[in-house]
Amino acid sequence: MIEQRLLDILACPQCKEAIRQDEANCVLICDQCRLKFPVRDGIPVMLVDEAETF
Ligand SMILES: [Zn+2]
Repeated sequence: MIEQRLLDILACPQCKEAIRQDEANCVLICDQCRLKFPVRDGIPVMLVDEAETF
């Protein structure tokens, strides 16, 4: 759903590390911070306030 080249430029807003896509749940994941960022209408919402912990 998210193109790889877009994923490549996205980073976690908290730790600035790379994030990965969880296609099954339509979220982007930072394993370091254990945050899940939502994707709304195909647009990643890279805001800590909008992220859920897991
Ligand atoms: Zn992070």
